[in-house]
Amino acid sequence: MRLLLGTKNWRKITEIKAILTEFSDLELLTFREQPFTEVSEDGATFEENARKKARAISQETRVAVLAEDSGLEVAALGGAPGVRSARFAGEAKDERANIAKLLELLTGVTNRRARFRCVAVLCFPDGRESVGEGILEGQIALEPKGSAGFGYDPVFIPDGYDQTLAELGAAIKNRISHRRRALEELI
Ligand code: IMP
Repeated sequence: MRLLLGTKNWRKITEIKAILTEFSDLELLTFREQPFTEVSEDGATFEENARKKARAISQETRVAVLAEDSGLEVAALGGAPGVRSARFAGEAKDERANIAKLLELLTGVTNRRARFRCVAVLCFPDGRESVGEGILEGQIALEPKGSAGFGYDPVFIPDGYDQTLAELGAAIKNRISHRRRALEELI
């Protein structure tokens, strides 16, 4: 089966490809082989955004599309940044600025509980859909550490580990991540 990945974020594409090769012999296409128009992420939930992307791109290309939306929810911030994770410090989607803002807001805060959430939606051109959701629980570190991954990985310590996702690296991240769990549920 041919499946188009509905994202232009290469770090997400790399992770999704690594996870899916374990599960099936899907023929995965990216925007390079099958171009599509960017879909704006203006929904109030991860599921809304993921569904909007998967539906729009499968209608446009007439290929089955897998899209996901994901982000960080911090308990002491009432679940923020949530769907605003990429733009937390502004429209520039600057990852270092996002981390700096997060650490600044958590200065002196002892409750550092947080979770990553991912919702993945698969849409077929005939309108059939499937959804999967995954969560990774953990806490926010006092300072950034490590260089693997992307986004908030340098400040996220998953439960059961004492290093950040950026220190643990891709092999461990792809075994335990919110993205892995969402895709597993969807499959
Ligand atoms: P979007 O799904 O492209 O709108 O952006 C999701 C944003 O959430 C990313 O830009 C990151 O800031 C954050 N995020 C989502 N998944 C991860 C992850 O696996 N590691 C680190 N940050 C993530």
